[in-house]
Amino acid sequence: MAKFCTNCGQEIPDGNRACTNCGTLVDGGSPVTTTVNVNNVQNPTNGFAIAGFIISLVSLFCCGTLDWLGLIFSIIGLVKAKSLNGSGKGLAIAGIIISCIGLIILIIFFAIGGLASIFESYSSVPSVRY
Ligand SMILES: [Zn+2]
Repeated sequence: MAKFCTNCGQEIPDGNRACTNCGTLVDGGSPVTTTVNVNNVQNPTNGFAIAGFIISLVSLFCCGTLDWLGLIFSIIGLVKAKSLNGSGKGLAIAGIIISCIGLIILIIFFAIGGLASIFESYSSVPSVRY
């Protein structure tokens, strides 16, 4: 007892309440039970996640100077992903991981630089004073 779409003529299998081709509801169908259109809805773009990921990535090549910005954007992107059907979640997480790696590298560099300057001033004290 297959039906045919009143809009485009596509055969509609038993049990389907909407045309698989154009989404037109067949008689007896209600908008609530339409599952056809759900698959056609494109995931909204998560601008913050994309921006966070790109900034974090660029920052890796800019001595980590933009890491804090990439981290902030990525976190906002991750929060927004929840309300955007999960869109951009992977990008946001990747952005956070990349920013964290960049920040750790930055901290290590500062630590080495700081230790080096402490050691330098310590070792230079005798030569200056005596
Ligand atoms: Zn149709």
